[in-house]
Amino acid sequence: MLGAGIVGTSIAVHLAKRGLSVALVDRRPPGEGTSYGNAGIIEGNTIFPAAFPSSFAELARIALKRSPVANYHLTHLPRIAPWLLAFRAASRPERLIETARLMRPLFARAVAEHEALAAEAGAERHLSRRGWLKLYRTDAAFAALKPELDVAAQFGIANLPLDRAGALALEPALAPDFRHAVHWTGAVSVNNPLALTRAYAARLTALGGATLNGDARTLHRAGPYWRIDTAAGPLDAADAVVALGPWTPDVLNALDIRLPLAVKRGYHRHFRPQGNAALGRPVLDAENGYVLAPMEQGIRLTTGVEFAARDAPPTPVQFDRLLPAARALFPLGEPIEPEAWMGARPCFADSRPVIARAPGQRGLWLAVGHAHWGLTLGPVTGRLIAEMMTGATPFCDPRPYGAERFMR
Ligand SMILES: Cc1cc2nc3c(=O)[nH]c(=O)nc-3n(C[C@H](O)[C@H](O)[C@H](O)COP(=O)(O)OP(=O)(O)OC[C@H]3O[C@@H](n4cnc5c(N)ncnc54)[C@H](O)[C@@H]3O)c2cc1C
Repeated sequence: MLGAGIVGTSIAVHLAKRGLSVALVDRRPPGEGTSYGNAGIIEGNTIFPAAFPSSFAELARIALKRSPVANYHLTHLPRIAPWLLAFRAASRPERLIETARLMRPLFARAVAEHEALAAEAGAERHLSRRGWLKLYRTDAAFAALKPELDVAAQFGIANLPLDRAGALALEPALAPDFRHAVHWTGAVSVNNPLALTRAYAARLTALGGATLNGDARTLHRAGPYWRIDTAAGPLDAADAVVALGPWTPDVLNALDIRLPLAVKRGYHRHFRPQGNAALGRPVLDAENGYVLAPMEQGIRLTTGVEFAARDAPPTPVQFDRLLPAARALFPLGEPIEPEAWMGARPCFADSRPVIARAPGQRGLWLAVGHAHWGLTLGPVTGRLIAEMMTGATPFCDPRPYGAERFMR
């Protein structure tokens, strides 16, 4: 199992539970990649994926680098242009509905799979079942939500549209800077994503699996096996699973498997709340694209997306654009760390992950591209791929998550 993020660690546990001999290999300790820094929302209620802006005004604000929702590096745009065009095509209303339907089996099981793993791993104290709250500052933004709420009703996804007073009754520390809110009551939030991944890794150890230090780029064929060099020596396995998040191309390109994976970088900072101010659940300021999430480390403020090369130096300029609104909405005190944390969401333009056999490589499996929902979908991905690898009947049709869709 290559990659000990939330996706790889969850897969490793599912494989070990089915009696396979599993080694989880990473160059860092479990959970310290992208899975460290997310907003902690297990959003089984996700319906439409994040979409390309449909309004010219929003696009112009992004282009002029005034939007808190998105930033970009100009030098990166030529390289990512084909991906952005595909993303724009996948953001048409009928495609969003199709994506919602294709992703539903995964999201519908996401919360239950986490709850089961957390119970086994003794990590339930990290989960909170208070849902999450999305705030809308304008009537127009709230009205634009209608198609999504219609699909939610079809899928039977619980939500509670609230007026300002209703939302403030849930979260009294917020300022009344918004007009509408939706409380997605079925979402679960995590107060320390790193601790959760570590707990799942400890569960793997308890099941007899090994956690090893090694560089996945050493993966190569050795007769009938896949071989990788680890700190404990070379390791051979009949099957290898690649779940390296945004680093997946580092290994797949060398095997001539070219997947159109891009990254949407994102940042977070922790702040002390002022006085006794507290949040009971994560809160999204929809028009500004940031989330305020209560964590063990403090209030975690996560940004929207940044289109830039994965390894380019951090440019956390979105904080300057969103902090005035965030500070007015919630009494944020001093930042806890001197620097912002940066991660890179691994994304395909159609907003579906690849959870599948690798094309043309016997015994190689892929679990990559979980975009904005890797925390949410880690354990359900673990179940699906473990069922496929052990020849069990998969709980849902895995074809929408195949790699072949990029090979046509
Ligand atoms: C700001 C932000 C907010 C987010 N909020 C949410 C949220 O609220 N809910 C949600 O569901 N998702 C959220 N996400 C998305 C989520 O965090 C990711 O989709 C998820 O963490 C991806 O997990 P992963 O296991 O695929 O990748 P990673 O966690 O990145 O794991 C990949 C692992 O591969 C290892 N690795 C890389 N290269 C090598 C190598 N050569 N050799 C060995 N090991 C290697 C890394 O060290 C790492 O541990 C957010 C993301 C960001 C950036």
